[in-house]
Amino acid sequence: MSTPTLIPTVEVQEDFRARAHEALGDSQLRNNFRSAMDSLMTKRAASFSDAHEREHLRALGNAIRARALSKLPELLERLEQNLTRNGVTVHWAETVDEANDLVFSIIRAHEARQVIKGKSMVSEEMEMNHVLAAQGIECLESDMGEFIVQLDHEKPSHIIMPAIHKNAAQVASLFHDKLGVEYTKDVDQLIQIGRKVLRQKFFEADIGVSGVNFAVAETGTLLLVENEGNGRMSTTVPPVHIAVTGIEKVVENLRDVVPLVSLLTRSALGQPITTYVNMISGPRKADELDGPQEVHLVLLDNGRSQAFADSELRQTLNCIRCGACMNHCPVYTRIGGHAYGEVYPGPIGKIITPHMVGLAKVPDHPSASSLCGACGEVCPVKIPIPALLRRLREENVKAPDSPHQVMRGQGSKYSRKERFIWNAWARLNSSPTLYRAFGFAATRLRALIPSKVGPWTQNHSAPKPAARSLHDLAREHLSKQSGDQ
Ligand code: SF4
Repeated sequence: MSTPTLIPTVEVQEDFRARAHEALGDSQLRNNFRSAMDSLMTKRAASFSDAHEREHLRALGNAIRARALSKLPELLERLEQNLTRNGVTVHWAETVDEANDLVFSIIRAHEARQVIKGKSMVSEEMEMNHVLAAQGIECLESDMGEFIVQLDHEKPSHIIMPAIHKNAAQVASLFHDKLGVEYTKDVDQLIQIGRKVLRQKFFEADIGVSGVNFAVAETGTLLLVENEGNGRMSTTVPPVHIAVTGIEKVVENLRDVVPLVSLLTRSALGQPITTYVNMISGPRKADELDGPQEVHLVLLDNGRSQAFADSELRQTLNCIRCGACMNHCPVYTRIGGHAYGEVYPGPIGKIITPHMVGLAKVPDHPSASSLCGACGEVCPVKIPIPALLRRLREENVKAPDSPHQVMRGQGSKYSRKERFIWNAWARLNSSPTLYRAFGFAATRLRALIPSKVGPWTQNHSAPKPAARSLHDLAREHLSKQSGDQ
C-alpha cells in the first residue's frame, strides 16, 4: 500500500452559474446525490416520527440557541475563564489568516511535522491543510469522508458527509489509483483500507486538530460528536490537541447540550445519538494514563460578528451544522456541493457565506433558491432560512452608497436601470389614471413586446398582456347586463 500525496491542489472556478450548469449535466453526480439525500431524508423522518415531540424539541433548541446568542460576549468570557482554569489555552482570531498564524505558531513551538485532523468545517474555512502544506507540514484528514476528498484533491461537498458525491465504485478506483490497493467495491473492505492508513498516522502525528460541536461556558468543556472514533483518536493520541471553532458554538451549560445533541444527530443522520460523544475539559492530569499534554482552543470570528450585529441576520448563528437543510433542498440535491464554490454549500451556505467572504463574492447565492421553504421547515433550531435569503436579496440590490451599511459587499447586484423600472412600476400601480393608460397601450401594442427582456427571461417566459384587459371585459359584461334588463 503506497503513501498518498497530500498536498492539496484545489482549483476553485469563479462562476457559480457555470458550475451549476455543469453539475446539472452530470447524470452520475445527480444520481449519487439523489440516492444519498433520499436515504438521509427517510432516516430523519423516521427518527422524528412523533411530530409533536419534534416540534417541542425544535422550539427548545431554538430557545437555547437564542439565549446563548443573546449573551454571547458574556458566555465567551465565561468559557475562556473556565477553560483556562481547566488548563486549556484559549486563542482569539478575527480572520482566517490570524487563526492559521495561531495554529502554525503552536506547531512551530513544538517543531511538529505531522498533524492529524478530525472533521472540522472551521478548519475548512481556514483552508488549514493548504496553509500547512505550504509550510511543509503534512496535515492528514482522519474522518473517512474527508480522507477520501483529500486523497482526490477535492473539497467536501456536504458538511456532514464530505464525500457524498462519490459512489463506492468511484472510491474503489480512487483507492486503487492512489493507495495501490486491489480494486474492490466492497464498502466494508474500503473502510478497512482507509483505517489501516490512518491507524498508523494517529501514532506518528505530533499534533491532533479537531472541531467542536458545542463549547460549554459553565464548565469549560468542548463537546465533539462523531461516529468513527477518529475524533477521539485525534484529540487523545497526539501529545498536543488544537481545537478550532467559531465563536457562535458556545452554549451556557451542560443541560443545554442534551436537546441540542439529540436535534443534531437525529436531523443529520436519523441517529438517536452518535457512537462517540467526546467531552474535553483539559489536558491529561498527572494521574491519568492518556490524553494530550497540551490543549488549545482557537475561537474564530470570520464574519460572525457582522451577522451578530443585526438582530434578524443573527439567527444565522443558531446553526448547529446538521446539514438537514441541504438534504431537503431541491437546488442542492440537483447541483451538489461543489457547484457553490465555497466551504458551506446549500441553504446554510447561502446565508452564512456572505458574512464570511462578503456578498460581492457570492452575489448569486441568495437567489439560487426556489424559496420552497423546505430548509426552514426541517431546520432543528428553526432558522427562518427563506426569510434570511429574502433579506440577503434585499441587501444585494441596495444602492452601494446607502446610509445603512449592514454587511460587506452589499449592493453587489444594484442596477440603476432595474431600480428605475421598479420605481416606474410602483408609480403605475399606485395611480389609476396611469394604470388605465398603461393597460390601454399594453393591450393594443402587445405584439411589439419582446420575448426576451434580460436575464429573467433566460429561465421564464416574458409576460404578454392579454388582448383585452380585465377592466375592459368587466365593463363590457356590466353594460351587457344592464342592456338585458
Ligand atoms: S441551518 Fe438548520 S438545518 Fe441547516 S445546517 Fe444549520 S441547523 Fe442544520
